[in-house]
Amino acid sequence: MGNVVKSIGKTLGDWFFYNLMRFPTAVKAGMRLATWSIGKVPFAKTLIRKTIYGRFCGGESLEDCLPVMNELALQNIGVALDFGLEGSGEDAQMNRAKEELLHCIAFAHNNPQVPFVVFKVTALLPKKLLEKRQGGEILSEQESDVWLSGMARIEEVCRTASENEVRLFIDAEESWIQQEIRGIAMGMMERFNKEAVTVFSTYQMYRKQALSELDEDLRKADQADFTLGVKLVRGAYMETERRIALQAGEVSPIHETKMETDTAFNQGAMLCFRQGANLCLASHNQGSCVLFSDFLRENGIRSDDARFWFSQLFGMADELSASLVSQGFNVVKYLPYGPVEDLMPYLLRRVEENSGVFG
Ligand SMILES: Cc1cc2nc3c(=O)[nH]c(=O)nc-3n(C[C@H](O)[C@H](O)[C@H](O)COP(=O)(O)OP(=O)(O)OC[C@H]3O[C@@H](n4cnc5c(N)ncnc54)[C@H](O)[C@@H]3O)c2cc1C
Repeated sequence: MGNVVKSIGKTLGDWFFYNLMRFPTAVKAGMRLATWSIGKVPFAKTLIRKTIYGRFCGGESLEDCLPVMNELALQNIGVALDFGLEGSGEDAQMNRAKEELLHCIAFAHNNPQVPFVVFKVTALLPKKLLEKRQGGEILSEQESDVWLSGMARIEEVCRTASENEVRLFIDAEESWIQQEIRGIAMGMMERFNKEAVTVFSTYQMYRKQALSELDEDLRKADQADFTLGVKLVRGAYMETERRIALQAGEVSPIHETKMETDTAFNQGAMLCFRQGANLCLASHNQGSCVLFSDFLRENGIRSDDARFWFSQLFGMADELSASLVSQGFNVVKYLPYGPVEDLMPYLLRRVEENSGVFG
């Protein structure tokens, strides 16, 4: 009886959510208003928590995520714990993010429910410094000190993960800082991916340059004798990237068509396989997942081979995750958690993505 009520509740929730997603502009405006109103308007936070936050996030703390993790573990699905703080640039916040990451790593140690921990470079290092360096600007003495502190945080997180045998995903972000992030991730992989593969860098295949960058990094890894960890995605910032390029009168770094992105994504997966990378195919696209799972089987790879993973975001493509796991593949759900206000940028991207599905 309890399960029936739960399943009716979920169906109604899905119906409400998908109808809401038919009005993306209104939802986005509502969410911006909600972000502003947290702390000012009573019930604003509760409303967000009960609706969109509850759908995509595990809870406000790691401990809040336990019921979700246990439920997924019953289906043989692991989680990639993702403390959702991004881009604050303040010292106290960045230290808090580092401490939370170390807490996640300790929790994930020897815990098959948590095969991965996730972080964004901008949670540990100010975004504006990444932007300056990528733009070729020289940092002032004071900025250089801030940079070194950020790098020390990143190094500590990667070293602790390596010592605890926990894998790390480094997320990819906007194109105007991504070259710096890519360089940092390469540096960490060179140090910590020698014996085991600890660090995974993210390649956004919606970017025109992504396939050649992936190829270049695979060659560098081969020459420097370490294994590249790759999380392959299409990319989450398409609208912003296109808008910024248009405003600056520049050519968009994003493929012109969905088909070009899809082709690059599938080619990227094959390239990783051929060049010996460890690969996490992070996608809700059934075609790409079927293509790659068939490819693994045709090449005589056991479905539970620890070098290959599939990943979907919590709250999305549950049927696809279930189907992959039923075929024996390694599946991990990205599980963001943290205070509601810190997760608003993540939730806005999910609204964009889901309204895109309806578009
Ligand atoms: C576990 C996981 C982790 C992720 N981590 C990151 C990350 O670190 N950084 C990041 O940026 N993204 C990340 N993403 C990707 C992002 O959040 C979206 O989920 C993803 O882009 C949706 O694509 P899809 O592969 O599920 O397939 P689909 O739903 O088939 O593809 C949709 C995507 O295709 C691309 N696209 C759509 N229309 C066009 C067009 N007209 N022209 C060109 N391209 C188009 C866009 O990237 C769009 O998001 C992650 C996704 C997952 C599942």
